[in-house]
Amino acid sequence: MSSTLTDTLQHWINNAAYSADERTGQIYNPATGEVTRTVQLASKATTEVAIAAAVEAFPKWRDTSLARRTAIMFNFRQLLAERKGELAAIITAEHGKVLDDALGEVARGLEVVELACNAPYLLKGEYSQNASTGVDVQSLRQPVGVSAIISPFNFPAMVPLWFFPVAIAAGNAVVLKPSEKDPTASIWLAQLFAEAGLPEGVLNVVHGDKESVDTLLTDSRVNSVSFVGSTPIAQYVYSTGTAHGKRVQAFGGAKNHMLVLPDADLDLAADMAVNAGFGAAGERCMAISVVVALESIADELVAKIAERAKTLRVGDGTRGCDMGPLITGEHKAKVAGYIDAGVEAGAELVIDGRSGTVDAEGEGFFLHPTMFDKVGTDMSIYTDEIFGPVLSVVRVDSFNEGIEIINSSPYGNGTAIFTNDGGAARRFEDEIQVGMVGVNVPIPVPVGYHSFGGWKASLFGDQHAYGPEGFKFFTRNKVVTKRWLDPSHGGINLGFPQND
Ligand code: NAD
Repeated sequence: MSSTLTDTLQHWINNAAYSADERTGQIYNPATGEVTRTVQLASKATTEVAIAAAVEAFPKWRDTSLARRTAIMFNFRQLLAERKGELAAIITAEHGKVLDDALGEVARGLEVVELACNAPYLLKGEYSQNASTGVDVQSLRQPVGVSAIISPFNFPAMVPLWFFPVAIAAGNAVVLKPSEKDPTASIWLAQLFAEAGLPEGVLNVVHGDKESVDTLLTDSRVNSVSFVGSTPIAQYVYSTGTAHGKRVQAFGGAKNHMLVLPDADLDLAADMAVNAGFGAAGERCMAISVVVALESIADELVAKIAERAKTLRVGDGTRGCDMGPLITGEHKAKVAGYIDAGVEAGAELVIDGRSGTVDAEGEGFFLHPTMFDKVGTDMSIYTDEIFGPVLSVVRVDSFNEGIEIINSSPYGNGTAIFTNDGGAARRFEDEIQVGMVGVNVPIPVPVGYHSFGGWKASLFGDQHAYGPEGFKFFTRNKVVTKRWLDPSHGGINLGFPQND
């Protein structure tokens, strides 16, 4: 297992380490600020080698029985469950999130592997006997072919696991291009799948940046692209991939609001705002970054959130802290710049996370929890996706005003309402223009057997990830209308076929 975990991380093609590229990127331990290894960055030629491996593996894998494919998936599930601690340690070392959170990430990924173990059931087609006299009609789902998956840094295991188990269970061959900032988790997963019995070429991993992404988007042998990342890149991936005839689902950024009504349990709401705002240092696409509070309870709620946020221990994720560092020094500087901008714009800085005690060695990329109150919807801390531990409180006078603010956001990934009023919650569920909604639940990431996806600028494409929509995305529907000759054969008739 450790054969490719050398100082320079290599690609994984045909179930073996593959090395060809001189261009490299640096991988940091964000908690210490040190470079821990480098990673090869794939050229167009290397990416084409991975695509060719998938092209070659595809027909054989597609024709492998469901029973055999499912047995391998069960093996993979078993190995992953047994060795999840190893994967969580890799995530913490390269992403920085605390170990408990990394284990949670693996658990959510495991759910999708468990879903993929149900592939034979989920791939069953439909059949209508005697649709016309002596004519039967069958709908069947066939794999799309070669599937490219391009993933972001913030969930180095879970996001790849949203896609590749479903793609592979459905009979496709995959080229995965993980984030070059924390790529080891993907290699570890691909090695584990090989150990579980996955044949060569069915899951290939290339590390890289724009050069490898552009190759995947334009190569005519790639049939589908699943992308997760920031909105501008998601738009680019969607337009380029579809212009090259591919099926594309491109998940983008987010700005998730939590609306708190006066009848809510304010202690629960404050706990959840802290968990969802500062967990993983705010580097979650489903993080809460805006609390929309009714004016009548805003003072009390802000005080409760501040009291809790100040107790969080910030430091190295291996030391039992609550919150880890940001991914890079550059990203830390960007987030700190937003805090400066919020102060300048006149928002009230309730907790300033730009300094504080850190439990870690070295010069890690740490910020502390930060909260602004009385934030205006024209300020950059409100309009932009910050992707850091910065919570903004926007005060409103009415429930309707809260709904209007949320619906005016260009993003539509996740949202939540905190209330004990069933009627208000029901109206919120109905009217809110967001793909994933929580009622007294702050990070409503759907379970594996429902599908994950936002609306508006949070998703380009029409199929969500995993669940039933995941299986739809990775398969094409084919309808077969058939008749076996019998005495009803009626000779030549040039009219349009009608059913009788
Ligand atoms: P990113 O957009 O910088 O990178 C995502 C992927 O795109 C990486 O694999 C990267 O190598 C590649 N990439 C980067 N620049 C590129 C370019 N110019 N051309 C082609 N490819 C390029 O995103 P990130 O910083 O890794 O991740 C954070 C972002 O991902 C946030 O915006 C977050 O909201 C979003 N995200 C969204 C979801 C969702 O489900 N909607 C889930 C997780 C993360």
